[in-house]
Amino acid sequence: MAQTDRVRQGRQAGRARLRDVPQRPLHADPHPRIAEGKAPTTILAADLGGTRIKLGIVRDAAVLARETFAAESQDGLARQLPKIAAAFATLCDRASVDMAECTAVGFCYPGLTDPGCRRVVAAYGKYTDAPTLDLVAWGREYLALPVWVENDARVALLGEWQFGAGRGCDDLVMVTLGTGIGAVAMIEGRLRRGRHGQAGVLGGHFTVRLGGRRCRCGNIGCAETEASNAYLPAIAREWPGFAESRLAAEPVIDYATVFRLAGEGEACAVAIRTHSVQVWGAVIVNLIHAFDPVRVIVGGGVMASADTILPALRDYVSRHAHTPWGTVEVVASALGDDFALFGCEVLLRERMQPTGVSR
Ligand SMILES: [Zn+2]
Repeated sequence: MAQTDRVRQGRQAGRARLRDVPQRPLHADPHPRIAEGKAPTTILAADLGGTRIKLGIVRDAAVLARETFAAESQDGLARQLPKIAAAFATLCDRASVDMAECTAVGFCYPGLTDPGCRRVVAAYGKYTDAPTLDLVAWGREYLALPVWVENDARVALLGEWQFGAGRGCDDLVMVTLGTGIGAVAMIEGRLRRGRHGQAGVLGGHFTVRLGGRRCRCGNIGCAETEASNAYLPAIAREWPGFAESRLAAEPVIDYATVFRLAGEGEACAVAIRTHSVQVWGAVIVNLIHAFDPVRVIVGGGVMASADTILPALRDYVSRHAHTPWGTVEVVASALGDDFALFGCEVLLRERMQPTGVSR
């Protein structure tokens, strides 16, 4: 039977399948641990990146099939949903997986989601229509599967915790350095989500410069406005000596360019690199003071320059974090590009098992 027929049948069976899904009790712990004993599951994962959408069929930390296509996130998510549904059907066929036997769909979203992980609450320049979309209804109608959606940094941390740089540790903070600055915290094996879903994930919007630039979030002097790819062209233009620098002649001003020129000793790039590392260090120290982690994981595209960034961050943290008990580890993420696919599997186990997840 073709996968499209299975999808059609699945739509008809959608309500019955949803009734089969274990529902969380009304007063369940909002920060559950993941249960001992990992039941084998096959899930559909969608990583909604700013430039790429990556889809995968994941089972027991193995990606059975994957596909990537251009996100065109500036044009919204609604226009991509039919393509995502069709691609999932194709991937299931390719992996010889019956979609009707899949457990659920996990979306990894670059913005705020509600604490129950059922809808997007706020968008920041990418897929700006997402808060108006009912992804749960979409999953029920087009895939006959339950849908959960979670902030991308939280999904990354779940993946790292179970399969990557966070293994063996239940007290973690993760920071992602890229277009923006993502953050997330886990305390005693539980993700912190908060009443409105924004606990821990606004590390990029810590105030690091009083009277600084206006941020897209409405605040002034956010870390993102001082050290992220989104604001780097503006940061560079305002930097003393920029107009005469080699950086000014570059066609693209991003951290790949800044770290390359800084490595060659270009003065303006060196100064911006130093400033940026201090900003990222300050964000990490703030997160350490707020969440008391044992280990900090640093990921994101900017970590292509990890050889330079990690030692500098470790030095900053060792000099500035107040941790009388010892030293917080600062490590690079281990899952790289596939963090969302693995993280979605952990997320769905956490969401669908009332007893939660443990390592
Ligand atoms: Zn901000």
